[in-house]
Amino acid sequence: MIIILHPDANKNDQEYQRLMEHLAALPAVRPRTHIEVGAKQTLTEIYLIGDTSSLDSKEIEGFEIVERVVRISQEYRVLGRHKGDTRPSHFEYNGVRFGQDSLQIFAGLCAVDTREHVEAMLRALRDHGQVCTRMGAYKPRTNPYSFQGHGKDCLPYVFESAGKYGIRVIAMEIVHDTNIEEIAEALRRSGDPTGVMLQIGTRNTQNFELLKCAGRQRRFPVLMKRGFGITLEESLNAAEYLASEGNRNVVFCLRGVKTNMGDPHRNLVDFAHIAAVKRLTRMPVCIDPSHAVGSRGRAPDGILDVLHATAQGIIAGANMVLADFHPHPAKALVDGPQALTIEELGPFLEDVAIAREAYEKRRRLYERAATEAGLRNAV
Ligand code: PEP
Ligand code: MN
Repeated sequence: MIIILHPDANKNDQEYQRLMEHLAALPAVRPRTHIEVGAKQTLTEIYLIGDTSSLDSKEIEGFEIVERVVRISQEYRVLGRHKGDTRPSHFEYNGVRFGQDSLQIFAGLCAVDTREHVEAMLRALRDHGQVCTRMGAYKPRTNPYSFQGHGKDCLPYVFESAGKYGIRVIAMEIVHDTNIEEIAEALRRSGDPTGVMLQIGTRNTQNFELLKCAGRQRRFPVLMKRGFGITLEESLNAAEYLASEGNRNVVFCLRGVKTNMGDPHRNLVDFAHIAAVKRLTRMPVCIDPSHAVGSRGRAPDGILDVLHATAQGIIAGANMVLADFHPHPAKALVDGPQALTIEELGPFLEDVAIAREAYEKRRRLYERAATEAGLRNAV
């Protein structure tokens, strides 16, 4: 059960104290208050944890300070979409909007290798009007002898270049809770020239202690990858760990699932789940066509498989795209074979715009159809 208070309800109000006393006296239920400070108003929500089945929502709605009470299902309490639940499904970070209605492109390096490659990538993004990117500093590798990423050593020049080229958000994977502090420290030392979205990789989707750490901090939003060998439900529950700790600025990323049924692609592309994730939760949905397809296979129509997959995701309403690019894929230390080149950035962005326009047209088509059906039923 979620109790939503009137905007700007104050903790010092007598009515607030009265409500909290009432809740504290309830058996087997623990209230947890969540305060969202926005530019225009402060929103207070109280989550009742425990067995709420015998509680009377009308009685709680009787408190003047309460705007409404939402009964929620057991699953995805914070991130889920519940009946009568009108809480927003977007957030803003460093001037960039992440919502179930927007689209942001994060093209960039799978792994930071050299300063020159970072610089070349970011310059190209700036030249194409982009303000987001991906840059892997900490790389979780299947093979212990593979390049593990430059770690915190590369952060100063990555952040400095990002500032220079007007990048506002960098998606960056973390593999350990100490990485969060390292990123915060490097940002501080360089004068906060950019923002970071912490990425939880598919190998860590169920690393619950890491999720709790990323969830306890509210400074950085989190990009949560779907686990490659678990059900969608299990991955959504993992995302809920972040929110249950207090950080609900979470984007959920589909990146394919591991099975030989996906051959010859690296993973079986799972972008049909975009709609399901949006229906079940309020999270914006990202797609990672690079790690899903994992190669530069090209169809007879001349279009790369990875570009077809990107378009498929966008036409189905994806809200963010994570895509591997590299100035010299042959020299990349991680995932070179799936990377797109700088020369391909322009056509890629044009293709993205075509697919997005098609999605908007589809949305309007079904909106119109629903209105006409409604009118027919009313006659
Ligand atoms: C990545 O995005 O660099 C990555 C390692 O992805 P995933 O966790 O989906 O394999
Ligand atoms: Mn990769």
